[in-house]
Amino acid sequence: MSGVEHAVEIRDLHKSFGELEVLKGIDFSVEPGQVVCVIGPSGSGKSTLLRCVNLLEQPTSGRVVLEGVELTDPDVDLDAARRRVGMVFQQFNLFPHMTVLENVMIAQRRVLKRGKAEAERVARENLEKVGIAEKCDAYPAQLSGGQQQRVAIARALAMNPALMLFDEPTSALDPELVGDVLAVMRKLAEEGMTMLVVTHEMAFARDVADRVVFMDGGVIVEDGQAAQVIGDPQQERTKAFLRRVL
Ligand code: ADP
Ligand code: MG
Repeated sequence: MSGVEHAVEIRDLHKSFGELEVLKGIDFSVEPGQVVCVIGPSGSGKSTLLRCVNLLEQPTSGRVVLEGVELTDPDVDLDAARRRVGMVFQQFNLFPHMTVLENVMIAQRRVLKRGKAEAERVARENLEKVGIAEKCDAYPAQLSGGQQQRVAIARALAMNPALMLFDEPTSALDPELVGDVLAVMRKLAEEGMTMLVVTHEMAFARDVADRVVFMDGGVIVEDGQAAQVIGDPQQERTKAFLRRVL
């Protein structure tokens, strides 16, 4: 041991679906308090990588270590490890028959076994943080996409995660709603949350991320300081991708 505990450490990660090898040996780590953005073309394996970080997908080989706990060890308590990770998807996946407040309370109650009063207090705190405290009693269908995504972020934060994973959190939103969600994410980053974010928002990646990882074809092509990878990429494939998206 080097004595440094990474928030996440990924070593020689491979993932195949049948004959299709989607991740072809991924190595990287995220340090506590870091924000790392993952960019790359559709189909390059970004979502699969994120899903391997909390073992929603079982890697074919390689190691995933979360706060020093090796998730790829068959004896590990996966549920306990997963509780340390919050995940926000492109689709918000709120329960339609529950109010906003109930949506943010349910996993606290069921998974963390928090009492009702505590779960409600934590839910209100986090809804306040994402700027929709006044929508506590609304149902998801009564909210805009941006508001629903902010509820989904509050729901993840209410579990006190050590790490937040975001998989294209703004891709399903109308353009005018993207900014509110990015502003919440920026605030989280400034507060020191450890974040791994798959995104097409290059301005966000450049301004907020500590590091940017460019993936293509199941490998990491380039990994470096955000301003460097986006402003002065070294690899041809990164340059070609950025020419297309910027
Ligand atoms: P990205 O998020 O970068 O667009 P994905 O990780 O979603 O890429 O997908 C990478 C490749 O893996 C794609 O070719 C996709 O079709 C394939 N893939 C992803 N999930 C599965 C699955 N559950 N079964 C089979 N193929 C999959
Ligand atoms: Mg994806």
